Amino acid sequence: MLQKEKSPTRLANSTTSKKITTNIDTPIQYLKGVGPRIASIFATKNIHTIKDLLFYFPRTYEDRSQFKTISQLDAGAKATLKLNILSKRRFSMRNRKSILEVRCSDQTGTMSLKWFYSPKGLESQLTPGKNIIISGTVKKYLSRHEIIHPEVSFKENTVDSGRVIPVYSEIEGISTRQLRKMIFFALENHKKTLKEDLPLHLLKKHCLPALEQAIETIHFPSKEISLDDIATFNTPQQHRLIYEEFLKFEYIVLKQRLHMEKKFSTSFSMDQSLKSYQSLAKLLPFELTDDQKKSITTIIEDLSFSHPMNRLIQGDVGSGKTAVAFLTASAVLAQGNQAAFMAPTEILAEQHYKNACNLFSNKLNVCLLTGKTSTPERQGIQNRLNRGEPLLLIGTHALLEDPVVFKSLDYILIDEQQRFGVEQRRTLRNKGIRKDLINHKEIHPHTLVLTATPIPRTLALTAYGDLSISSIKQRPPGRKFIPTKVIRPKQKKSAFEHIRKQLQKGQQAYFIYPLVNESEAEGFTSLKSAIKESEHLSNVIFPEFKVGLLHGKMKPDEKQKIMEEFKNNTIQVLVSTTVIEVGVDVPNATVMVIEHAERFGLSQLHQLRGRVGRSELESYCFLFTSNQFNEISEQRLCTLEKTNDGFEIAEADLKIRGPGEFLGKRQSGSLPFQMANLVRDRHWLMKAREDALALLKKDPELKTFPENFPLARYFAQEGNLMSDILKTS
Ligand code: ADP
Ligand code: MG
Repeated sequence: MLQKEKSPTRLANSTTSKKITTNIDTPIQYLKGVGPRIASIFATKNIHTIKDLLFYFPRTYEDRSQFKTISQLDAGAKATLKLNILSKRRFSMRNRKSILEVRCSDQTGTMSLKWFYSPKGLESQLTPGKNIIISGTVKKYLSRHEIIHPEVSFKENTVDSGRVIPVYSEIEGISTRQLRKMIFFALENHKKTLKEDLPLHLLKKHCLPALEQAIETIHFPSKEISLDDIATFNTPQQHRLIYEEFLKFEYIVLKQRLHMEKKFSTSFSMDQSLKSYQSLAKLLPFELTDDQKKSITTIIEDLSFSHPMNRLIQGDVGSGKTAVAFLTASAVLAQGNQAAFMAPTEILAEQHYKNACNLFSNKLNVCLLTGKTSTPERQGIQNRLNRGEPLLLIGTHALLEDPVVFKSLDYILIDEQQRFGVEQRRTLRNKGIRKDLINHKEIHPHTLVLTATPIPRTLALTAYGDLSISSIKQRPPGRKFIPTKVIRPKQKKSAFEHIRKQLQKGQQAYFIYPLVNESEAEGFTSLKSAIKESEHLSNVIFPEFKVGLLHGKMKPDEKQKIMEEFKNNTIQVLVSTTVIEVGVDVPNATVMVIEHAERFGLSQLHQLRGRVGRSELESYCFLFTSNQFNEISEQRLCTLEKTNDGFEIAEADLKIRGPGEFLGKRQSGSLPFQMANLVRDRHWLMKAREDALALLKKDPELKTFPENFPLARYFAQEGNLMSDILKTS
């Protein structure tokens, strides 16, 4: 039952009162049946106004259009019944908790309703003789039907029964029935004032209904709408809201992209770039793959434009992205300018530095800056930068520090970009922004970000919509399929024997433990288990081999020492807590074991797997699972047994785990979709994208055609919130 709130500030406690001044933007507190206490609960769910409440969409729907009789009940199914109360009693369980049982009947039989906690205000109303309407899931207890914690109403009404009704996510402190009633009331009184943001011609084009109708149907579907359609988001009313979310989103993303294209940057002659890249590529000990070559020429073309490149290059671990980074940087250096290449860890930065020196026989002018770099060395590097020496500075976060200043930073490269936040990328980019001395224009650097987690196409168009994308799908020749097997606890023993055979042949193995999440406490637990496990591996499982441990809490030189020992095969088994060191390259390591594999995302597992299979030797990957392992995780992990294609895995991951996996340090909840789903609704995404592009072409500021004014107003008032989160640059 609705609790009456008594508050002097209430305005709308009666529908007949002439003083009603509420509109769609009125604070929720003033909606009938709300008040300050419930308003404060709503606030925790970001529901502040009546409009917010109308945009609190149902989680699912339930068909209560048919009433059942007791004789028709099936255990396990949901049912709605009209019953008469026979009796009511309370009795205590062995644990002293008391249960309320209400016996009811209809023409066909009797059944029980039970409550394990006292339903406030309800108990006293459940008096024998009363007629009630109840809904809930039917259970069978001692061969009799019962319903635990049913929803009860005393009058037949169209809000709670007799139709397909909405089911909302629980809000603690507000009952489902209360919520339904409030939303129903808000709709009745305020739907007329819902403002349409979309241009009419777009609604017409896609045969979509007006906002008012869409919102109404979503909360209270009319009789013509089937449960099937609405529960699968397949009604024009839902499409309308999905389309609207996508259109607004795409408009912002694409506008940002156009904005970038209006900025200026140094343009690098394509001819010269191609020449310098080709002469340097001759020094490589291998032939570039076609995909590498294609990416390089695309980037070189981008660098020749006088607006900044903002490009993502994606390719599996080991696909050779770094070579593309170096070779394109060489083009910038050859024309007298500077570049910076930022990697997430010291080990990676050092590895890149060594590779840059070795692969090109010291013909690429590189320098290394990390937390370890001494003060005099830093000073030396700074002097070279100040002089404007054409230099590729490779480093860690150390590059972001204030004292590091460039003279002509025109090319920024960011490895494993998902490991960095937007802020960090922006800081590095800002180091390249400067005034051109001749024409006084502001110059922006070109940016290339690298990732081994391929981004599914739908996300590429949305979350990364302001980036151009290059993909390296080919692997360098000689790389083989890595057989992968999901290992249940009881199969562990035989897996260890298989691993032992590899070790006996002189090869090496990784054992990886998940960092459950990034909180200290959890990190500590996984650290402890890794330490314990490495002892177990060393003393019990592989006593004849040397086992080393690497974890995030170690000092850099300790880490370095262990890595060196693994590289030169002093250590045969490397136990590591986290994915911190994923970038390492040890071709002799041919076994990858991942503990608690079910806790990782597929793309992440695939990346880890890419640490092996880096030579002619046959490699293997074992995904160890724990006991609590269930069917769904099993199916998930089996994807990895079936395919080695990172792009396919990324698509599967998006379906299973949602976009969070791919957004990295960007808040994973940052995609502002309440109803739209990138996987399910991808065809609406494409339509919205096309329309947003057309809008930006014809009326970029939405100020020319009156039809577009409401959308402009929306962006001015609310839409800006979105834009900052979405920036990739
Ligand atoms: P990732 O894409 O994971 O960053 P890297 O750039 O680190 O991959 O390349 C992995 C290894 O493959 C490196 O040792 C690199 O020198 C080597 N490599 C890169 N391109 C080729 C190629 N075309 N043929 C053979 N080896 C290559
Ligand atoms: Mg790499």
